Amino acid sequence: MTEHNKSPVYVTQPALPPLEEFIPYLEEIWKNKWLTNNGPFHQQFENALCGYLGVGHISLFTNGTLALLTALQSLRITGEVITTPYSFVATAHSLLWNGIKPVFVDIDPVSLNIDPEKIEAAITPHTTAIMPVHCYGHPCDVERIQEIADNYGLKVIYDAAHAFGVRCQGSSVLNHGDLSVLSFHATKVFNTFEGGAIICKDEKTKKHIDHLKNFGFVNDVTVVAPGINGKMSEINAAFGLLQLKGIDEAIQKRRQIDAQYRQGLSNVAGIHCVNDTGEKTANHAYFPILVRADYPLSRDALYNKLQENGIYARRYFYPLISDFPMYRGMPSAAQENLPVAKEIAGQVICLPIYPALPIETVDSIIQIIADF
Ligand SMILES: *Cc1c(COP(=O)(O)O)cnc(C)c1O
Repeated sequence: MTEHNKSPVYVTQPALPPLEEFIPYLEEIWKNKWLTNNGPFHQQFENALCGYLGVGHISLFTNGTLALLTALQSLRITGEVITTPYSFVATAHSLLWNGIKPVFVDIDPVSLNIDPEKIEAAITPHTTAIMPVHCYGHPCDVERIQEIADNYGLKVIYDAAHAFGVRCQGSSVLNHGDLSVLSFHATKVFNTFEGGAIICKDEKTKKHIDHLKNFGFVNDVTVVAPGINGKMSEINAAFGLLQLKGIDEAIQKRRQIDAQYRQGLSNVAGIHCVNDTGEKTANHAYFPILVRADYPLSRDALYNKLQENGIYARRYFYPLISDFPMYRGMPSAAQENLPVAKEIAGQVICLPIYPALPIETVDSIIQIIADF
């Protein structure tokens, strides 16, 4: 037992600025009474994000799931879309809600992202797109995926919900594919309470996406598509602007915690820390470990032991999306098709990581895992 029984430690805790710093933003909103529909904070936040992330065009949304739904609508994706079973359910749900059939492809055992070498075998005449996930914020093999997409004439929509601020080869990972979708949910590295965004490559696409998230309105009398209401409010946009000021420091603190776990767990037999790619541009959104057969406890036994000590780690991503009732009957959801994802889902635990997590707590979590 540790002292942390007193106050539970969760897998994450949202970073919030001092409350008084948000008051002037609220006063501004109260003054100009523009609450939503592309207001001044919405515009400022879009511009600020383009600058911070190093992307050309961004369209803000109420949440990441509506952004995923709209991304698929904007490219008129139909038929079948190739995706990963090792993700949060919203990835595949966004396909089903669009009447699209998800086709699951196994993951790479090192990156835990969709295995590009297995994509081609899953392509059929109905395939129109690939929807990979930068799982835990670790970049997919973006070049290989683009090469396959180009060869077969497929679109690529990245579920980049975990990849805020991540760069690869000197530029934002969000610049790859046709579209990338972010989430600013409370549990993500960067939050606006709820929120999301689509990153696209040109002004024309952004305009179309902006119409779609506003019921399809182009002006007060013209509706060009069966759009939805996905607009981010001024409160969330203003909050996002303020949050941007603290994001570098927040990621820096996450980086220190990541390093502390890696160091502390490096000699624990049977514990593998996922993906030490040494990327300077990682966002340290999660700290996944794999509990392998040579560890004295099963994954679930370690998970329970942590809970008994007040440490509420999470088994992201277990169960696999392909094991949920609305997917499991599909041929691509069969166990034999997804052996790597199945194995990893049975081994993974995401340990607590967030800027305010004290180093002493990280030490005692390491202790609980290492102590026999
Ligand atoms: C969080 C998340 C989403 C959904 O984003 P919301 O903003 O919560 O709607 C989608 N995909 C992945 C991989 C996620 O982690």
